[in-house]
Amino acid sequence: MSSDEKSIRAHREVIWHLTCGHCHYYWTYPTMNIDEDISKKSFHCPLCGQNSKTVVDDNLNAL
Ligand SMILES: [Zn+2]
Repeated sequence: MSSDEKSIRAHREVIWHLTCGHCHYYWTYPTMNIDEDISKKSFHCPLCGQNSKTVVDDNLNAL
């Protein structure tokens, strides 16, 4: 067994925090694809079922 096989293997995960604009339900969307452009995706809200496009908001104070 080489030293590489004994190493701790690490993989980067991105966790998007999503808030429904209709009912304000909050959930997360984890992905291993760090290059994914989430602004090109739409989601169905798990609570109210509304399908909406995603807008990236970098302002954490808006939460
Ligand atoms: Zn909703």
